[in-house]
Amino acid sequence: MKKIKLLLVMLLTISVAACFPSNNSAKTEVLLQGRTMGTTYSIKVVTTIERVASLKLQEKIDVALVQVNDEMSTYLSSSEISRFNNSTSTAPVEISDGFARVLQESMRLGQLSSGKLDITVGPLVNLWGFGPEQRPETVPNDEVLADTRARIGLKNLHLHGNTLSKDIPNLYIDLSTTAKGYGVDVVAELIEANGIVDYLVEIGGEMRLKGFKHTGELWAIAIEKPILDTSGEQRAVHQVIIPKDNAVATSGDYRNYFEVEGQRFSHIIDPATGKPIDHNLVSVTVISSSSMTADGLSTALMVMGPDEGLKFAQEHELAALFISKTEHGFKEAFTVKFRQYLK
Ligand code: ADP
Ligand code: MG
Repeated sequence: MKKIKLLLVMLLTISVAACFPSNNSAKTEVLLQGRTMGTTYSIKVVTTIERVASLKLQEKIDVALVQVNDEMSTYLSSSEISRFNNSTSTAPVEISDGFARVLQESMRLGQLSSGKLDITVGPLVNLWGFGPEQRPETVPNDEVLADTRARIGLKNLHLHGNTLSKDIPNLYIDLSTTAKGYGVDVVAELIEANGIVDYLVEIGGEMRLKGFKHTGELWAIAIEKPILDTSGEQRAVHQVIIPKDNAVATSGDYRNYFEVEGQRFSHIIDPATGKPIDHNLVSVTVISSSSMTADGLSTALMVMGPDEGLKFAQEHELAALFISKTEHGFKEAFTVKFRQYLK
């Protein structure tokens, strides 16, 4: 998970910087920042500074995030997921509740999306040079591609409660697409368990929020849109959304790619072809009550592409926003369910 999230679309909170009144028993926006999963976190809780200190909130958050990494980071060789991936045994093993929860939801979304979201796709991600193995930027030949494709597929993975097994010894699970969202859910649940009802949690661009800012206003999120120019990319505010008590996740790969002879290769793989996606969809934003679900769905829709993705999102009543590249710039499309969140 030590992947640097490089997105075309960045999510920024529009909110006043935390202000600390001299009477610090008043409710304010307390900002907690740090690093996790190869990226940064930024959390705002509306409460008093003393309360955050007496609850030892940041310490608790850091402990919880370290646990998520210890369970699900493919960048840590000692993590639970790495031990499962490195083991050649096909015998069932008992796994932690957290790992089981992320696997269960990821596999459910895998089925729902007819395999477009596939957490066994890791060997292909590595083959194309985007995973922890950090291979050189080359285009793999057909033979290597076919060999690698034989190693993937959700049908080879079985989860019953907390018991996990694989049918093939070298199956490799990659939870990059849902674990960050899960981390956001874990932090949100922890904040609520400590009696705080107004908050915004953000890890590497994935967010979950609840309640109100200290000003009494609803939290607002600005989705950034890219402007392409010859000197590179600039960013500008594109759309302001009010997600209410929900999570917001974006999958976008415009900045995370490599180029060979002018062709861009994305870090998102279409399991149907074994190759990086190749269409004009640059980002998908999904709003849902769970950050993990929003995170996984945004990637699934990204794999599907602009037309199939929009159709799927409408049919499944998802709140989704699609930004596509056109000859002249960018165009957007959103589902009926998304409309209610537009400011
Ligand atoms: P990011 O948050 O980096 O923009 P996503 O949340 O969309 O990206 O997840 C992309 C990551 O998921 C990739 O870096 C890769 O590790 C993994 N991945 C790529 N393709 C798939 C796929 N079809 N199904 C599941 N995971 C994928
Ligand atoms: Mg995602």
